[in-house]
Amino acid sequence: MTEAAHARAGRLMDEERIEGILSDADHAWLAEHLRDCEQCSHVAGETNRALASLRSVGLEVPRGLASRTQLRVRLRADALRERGIGNKLLWAVSGVSWVAGVASAPWVWRGFAWMGERTGMPKTLWEMGFVLWWAIPALFAAGAVLADRRRGFGQELD
Ligand SMILES: [Zn+2]
Repeated sequence: MTEAAHARAGRLMDEERIEGILSDADHAWLAEHLRDCEQCSHVAGETNRALASLRSVGLEVPRGLASRTQLRVRLRADALRERGIGNKLLWAVSGVSWVAGVASAPWVWRGFAWMGERTGMPKTLWEMGFVLWWAIPALFAAGAVLADRRRGFGQELD
């Protein structure tokens, strides 16, 4: 099993989640990969569990918010990778922050809603707070990895 295959599986799983559909060929390829690959089927299981627990709370998360946030993290990861920055750690960081973000979202959302009610803050404002709370740690994590890599490159040049 190559790194490229795992990366492709990750990309297809995201695509399926965000767009809700895959081409027949991609779908078949992904199903086969998940059957054979413990690593990717574990990731798929964890994400599905996190999404299911989010749904079970019966919470109205703004439509498309989860997908957009995930996509943003993913695009950031892609941009970093294109610059030749190694990917295993980045994928792990993106994955963990995504799963943690989804898992904790219901409580954070309630916290922000409660705060908004108490302070009479406009809904848009506390919704923004919620989005930032969620998106920023992931971007920071990616940034930290990038900074770390840069330091590594710098030392090589010295
Ligand atoms: Zn895999």
